[in-house]
Amino acid sequence: MIVMKFGGTSVEDATAIRRLVSIVRQQLQRQPIVVVSAMARVTNGLLDCARWAAEGKDADVQAKLDEVKARHSAAADELALPEERETLHAALRTQLAELTGTLDEIQRGGIVTEALSDSVSAQGELLSSLLVAAAFRADGISSERIDVRPLMRTNDDFMRAAIDFEVADPLLHETFTAQVNAGCVPVTQGFIGSTVDGRTTTIGRGGSDYSASIIGAAVNATAIEIWTDVDGMMTTDPRIVPEAAKIKTISFAEASELAYFGAKVLHPSTLRPAMVKDIPVYICNSRRPHVQGTAILSHAPASKSPIKAIAFKRGITVVNVDSVRMLMAHGFLARLFEVFNRHETAVDMVATSEVSVSMTLDDTRHLDAIIADLQEFGEVTVERDRAIICLVGEQMKFTPGLASRIFTPLNQINISMISHGASAINASFVIESALVDEAVKRLHKEFFSELDEETFEKVDV
Ligand code: ADP
Ligand code: ASP
Ligand code: MG
Repeated sequence: MIVMKFGGTSVEDATAIRRLVSIVRQQLQRQPIVVVSAMARVTNGLLDCARWAAEGKDADVQAKLDEVKARHSAAADELALPEERETLHAALRTQLAELTGTLDEIQRGGIVTEALSDSVSAQGELLSSLLVAAAFRADGISSERIDVRPLMRTNDDFMRAAIDFEVADPLLHETFTAQVNAGCVPVTQGFIGSTVDGRTTTIGRGGSDYSASIIGAAVNATAIEIWTDVDGMMTTDPRIVPEAAKIKTISFAEASELAYFGAKVLHPSTLRPAMVKDIPVYICNSRRPHVQGTAILSHAPASKSPIKAIAFKRGITVVNVDSVRMLMAHGFLARLFEVFNRHETAVDMVATSEVSVSMTLDDTRHLDAIIADLQEFGEVTVERDRAIICLVGEQMKFTPGLASRIFTPLNQINISMISHGASAINASFVIESALVDEAVKRLHKEFFSELDEETFEKVDV
């Protein structure tokens, strides 16, 4: 069995879905399970609708709904067999009626609770999966659309729900194995799940990659394929550096760091389930399926390049605590971090000196309360609009003189925190968000002007 996940642009219209069908058709003997995202831009559009409904902007809601309906309905007309067309339209209508019902509820209440937000944003995947399963059947491939919600059990932390693996794993295993053994290609949704009492949840933006990996691990798949709009994992985001090169092979550890520090091509949690079962993950381009993608494996061959890729994460907040009391006080950091624990906020990077601690946060929902609590430790200052830049590579630890190669190109860019990960495969630092593009371009030039062809491949478009 293999899991094949197709992202938003890979299901964005009938043409993309036909490409998907032809990609999967070539893998039928490997018993694929297909996981889909919402059509490109639909999740954002649905979340806009939820907000507009609460604000009473009914005309905006209606216009966006009409657009979503029209896109799915046009794809249905193109994809479904004539005899299935009406059933498919009816299924889409039922799904859209559910969406309209939730939006009405939001409009009446004047507020988007996180639970209602999830009920709305989950509709994108529920709609796209109907189209994809119908497209397989129209192409003579036995296929069924499976609603993943009763299987993908989560807690009720809406918008960022955590999977209850003890419940989900056996359910996913049983359902998908039975489907595949019956000669069917199951098509299911990424991103969504449900609570024990059947309420719809989502597992965080970009979470379809993670869903694919959870399903892959549950069925002991031999591979997990992430089909997207780039040739693989690249030396950096090609939107910033168009000449970014493809990485042929990368280790789980390296790719996890990159995903965690902002390489959007993979949701940060994706590799965890795959690593536990040692399932290789491949990133491939659905628009150029003939191009070999990136293989993410437990071990990657040693590269001549100290750095495999540069990731960045914008919208970071730095919190500094200055305290003379910190001098020689044991237990100080433990008490300090207890504050973040209490407010359920993760700290990404930490730097300490004798009298100060600096920490970076991605999630600032509880920032005010955190600052209030931290004030008992010393003076608290906050820097907003920061970004983390992260360089990753397993050869880093064997490369003397790397710090000067990293920081010399960045002269005149003010660097506020530096951390060389304990794993020694990651070097990160903090700068102002507005300077990210410039810094990434300069670093990319420094490290990737000459490519080790064993590790990297130029992308010829
Ligand atoms: P999908 O909808 O298929 O999940 P995403 O938009 O979530 O696609 O992720 C793919 C995008 O990730 C690419 O278009 C690219 O701009 C971005 N990206 C950021 N960093 C990297 C990287 N290191 N390698 C490849 N793509 C990256
Ligand atoms: N559709 C969801 C999102 O836009 C999940 C995903 O695409 O992975 O966040
Ligand atoms: Mg994605």
